[in-house]
Amino acid sequence: MRLPRLKLDLRTLIMLLAFASIAITLANSLYATRQVQREVLIENTLESNRVYATKLASTTEMFFQLAESQLAFSAKTLGQGGNDDALMQREVMRLREQTNSFNSAVIVDANGWVKAISPDSLMLKGVHLTTPVTRQALKERKPLVSQPSLSVANNLMVFVSYPIWSPNGVYLGFVGGTIYLKKKSILNELLGEQFYRDGSSLYVVDSGNRVLYHQNGTLIGQKIAPLISDEMKQDNGSQQVSKQNGEPMLAGYAMVATPGWMIVAMKPTPTTLTPLTSMMLQVVQRAVPLALLTLALAWLFAWLIARPLGQLADNASQMDAPGASTEIGAIRSWYYEAAQIKRAMLTGLGLLQDKIGRLKFEVQTDPMTSLLNRRGLHAVLEYFYATRQPFAVLALDIDHFKRVNDGWGHDVGDSVIKSVAQELSKSSRQTDVVCRNGGEEFLMILPGADREMAAVIAERVRKKIEQLALAPVGCVTLSIGVALWNADEMPLEQVFKQADDALYSAKHAGRNRVVVSGQWQETAQEIYRQYG
Ligand code: GH3
Ligand code: MG
Ligand code: MG
Repeated sequence: MRLPRLKLDLRTLIMLLAFASIAITLANSLYATRQVQREVLIENTLESNRVYATKLASTTEMFFQLAESQLAFSAKTLGQGGNDDALMQREVMRLREQTNSFNSAVIVDANGWVKAISPDSLMLKGVHLTTPVTRQALKERKPLVSQPSLSVANNLMVFVSYPIWSPNGVYLGFVGGTIYLKKKSILNELLGEQFYRDGSSLYVVDSGNRVLYHQNGTLIGQKIAPLISDEMKQDNGSQQVSKQNGEPMLAGYAMVATPGWMIVAMKPTPTTLTPLTSMMLQVVQRAVPLALLTLALAWLFAWLIARPLGQLADNASQMDAPGASTEIGAIRSWYYEAAQIKRAMLTGLGLLQDKIGRLKFEVQTDPMTSLLNRRGLHAVLEYFYATRQPFAVLALDIDHFKRVNDGWGHDVGDSVIKSVAQELSKSSRQTDVVCRNGGEEFLMILPGADREMAAVIAERVRKKIEQLALAPVGCVTLSIGVALWNADEMPLEQVFKQADDALYSAKHAGRNRVVVSGQWQETAQEIYRQYG
């Protein structure tokens, strides 16, 4: 099966062009808008995560400063109080209960023995501590925040400690507090639970990338791959990162100076970009009406531009149709190119018609007398026959023409033929047709003439020629045979045969006379008599 071919006209082409430009422009602006919106969304999320992490970091930092100053205060009190059991017990209770900073509080002497502890339920008083955390505190004798580690009571915790010095500079041990990582603690309260919708998450890691806080409790205490690449790390900042499972994330981070921790707030990139789709839909919704309007305008203009050219093109294929120039003339060519083409077509058409006219004239005209020749007569007769137009035929022949030729020469003969032809033309009506039938013979066709009228006209013509003064010949006479075609079934040749016969009769009867063909051949005079 052959598919119908798309008609590639100017209007289709302009429409295709308009449609393509609108589509490309629309797609391009959608793409650009999407890219910009995407970057804005990513930038905003990175920045808000950074701000959030920074805020949490500064709160956490404040907490550690406060905890340290509380411990410092206790250490000073204890250093001055000497080995007072009751004081020590009061101090651990105050640290734990009054400040709410620690899950437990403990005082350890310089040899690692627990001197006081709160809560009592831990039952560690008098126990000798040898955990790495204790050993580190005893060894370094300075304020410390430990790595996450298991306490003696088997709680995952960080330990904040402060050395106790006597007023005269003797090291007495340390006072410290624990913050449990897996149980309810000050950390939970600080870091809150509000952040974890839509896949967002919060990590607190120590300097060794061990998780101290995360909403997924199983991660706490685990060492994980670095969340933020080291080379970019500053006090705070943001980065696009990938989780272990490859999920792209937008992370904001901030350092907590005192414990050397890092807080990282992150949100999955796809979640961040979810609003893009609806944003794009809104852009499309806003852009489409104008695009449609533009398209409608393009359609209108395509129509207006293509119309005159289309009409000119249609006419170009029918330049020879009747009325072509009128039709082309009526085309509204409202812009330069169309106007020029129209002008050129009209000029071309004029030349063409001129040429055709001249050709027709040349083909159908006898050059010597400018009367129609046989071919021209034939065309006229075809028309009369087709339209059933009755007519009379006059067959005319110059009498004794040979004598003219013989007496005065061929050229004079020619001029006589021309003069007779001229006179025949003059004495015929506009609708009559005069034709040179060859030699010195002529035919006249009188449309609509009846027998009498034809006879009268023939007689008048005969008289006119008879009276014509033709120097140097003097005068010539004509014999005329008349016949009638009544638009009946009679073939045209027969009418001409009848006219010829009548002419022959006229010659035979003595020349210079009219004979009308009929049931009886009659002379013009006889017809006059009949009709009165
Ligand atoms: P009639 O018709 O009275 O019987 O006698 P006619 O002398 O006219 O005889 P016919 O019609 O037979 O002869 C016509 C002559 O006209 C013959 C030819 O030499 C001459 N003739 C034909 N055509 C031309 C022409 O174009 N120019 C000239 N000068 N003579 C022509
Ligand atoms: Mg003749
Ligand atoms: Mg003759």
